[in-house]
Amino acid sequence: MPTDDVEPEAQPATSTEDAPNVFRTDDGAQDGLAKCARCGATEISLNVATGNLRCGFCRFEWATDNAIEAFNLNGDISKLSGILVGSGSSDIVPSTEEILTFKCSACGAEVVIDTNNSTQARCHWCRNTLSMNQQVPNGAVPDMILPFTVEKSTAVEKIASFVGKRKFFAHPKFRAEFNAENVMGVYLPYMVVDINAHARMTGEGEHQTRSYTVKVGDKQEQRYDADLFNVVREFDIQVNDLTVESSSDRLDQNTSQNSNNIINTIMPFDVENSVRYDSNYLAGFTSERRDSNLDQLSPIAHTQAEDITRHRVNDSLAFYDRGVRWTAEEVDVRGQRWVSAYLPVWLYSYQQRNSSGKTFLHYVAVNARTGETMGSVPLHQSKLLLVAGVVQLVGTVIGLVLVAVGI
Ligand SMILES: [Zn+2]
Ligand SMILES: [Zn+2]
Repeated sequence: MPTDDVEPEAQPATSTEDAPNVFRTDDGAQDGLAKCARCGATEISLNVATGNLRCGFCRFEWATDNAIEAFNLNGDISKLSGILVGSGSSDIVPSTEEILTFKCSACGAEVVIDTNNSTQARCHWCRNTLSMNQQVPNGAVPDMILPFTVEKSTAVEKIASFVGKRKFFAHPKFRAEFNAENVMGVYLPYMVVDINAHARMTGEGEHQTRSYTVKVGDKQEQRYDADLFNVVREFDIQVNDLTVESSSDRLDQNTSQNSNNIINTIMPFDVENSVRYDSNYLAGFTSERRDSNLDQLSPIAHTQAEDITRHRVNDSLAFYDRGVRWTAEEVDVRGQRWVSAYLPVWLYSYQQRNSSGKTFLHYVAVNARTGETMGSVPLHQSKLLLVAGVVQLVGTVIGLVLVAVGI
């Protein structure tokens, strides 16, 4: 019998267990000319009132499939194992061109789309709108999109009212320049993540049995007796639709230069109503490209899953009325599913420049699904100080009066 002396082949650097399993989300998607199914026109855009696509010529309306159903994202999270990613969430290839050339399928002319700014362009010969729906590895085409349903006029009102309430303290330059009509509709890139994890937490918990006071010198001191328990909690945890920002600009929480955390305060979005991506939803809006990969975003999602775990376990600790101190916390992520999404936001931004030339980006944001509004407004420092001073003065006067009447 021959013996096999051949050395075993070296293991590949990444084991297949860690490599993400990619499922295609742009099957059947076509680049180029998208036509109205009823009249064949190519003038297609989002009707914000209904969240549907609408033909600008015959007014026919339709919606693309619900993404959660189309990609079977409803599946039992507790059965998830390994890493599953939509093709629009795959790693970005740095060398991928941002300029793509299309052949217009109406007249044959060559048309250029700059995917940095848009995934749509008009053919300059026949004026047809050309759309890019197939995924190129540059983050420009996500797996799914949540259409705008809050109309611009509503967003303008909400922003005007938000600023109106803060006008007294606002910087005069901001007040003079404020015009809510300058609001822009932007699709911001996010990753929507489902996580299946197993958690094990061990620690010590104290349950109080007696409380009493003792005399120490000439002072009374409160003492207590407690039983000490070893506490172990082990359980499975499923996290559904965690949303993580996937634009590095948004992840940059540098509060000396911008007020990015505002976007987090207008969460959540009803991501379960997202539809399959179609660049016709982008007509009339701007969008920001995803530029972060799973490697960068995983730690953020996992930290959030750990926070959720810690929060979840609190419900079962009521008995330990003097608290639990965890000595070990393990959250073992067994399965995760990632899809990239565009989420809709109305933005009013204002670049503040102070006397030293430094700039700070303020903005007011409206969740274009729920209408939730939050923002930051540049303050008029001297007015703020004056008011603070008056409040303090009034406080002092009241204090003096109270003292005078002997209260
Ligand atoms: Zn039509
Ligand atoms: Zn053409």
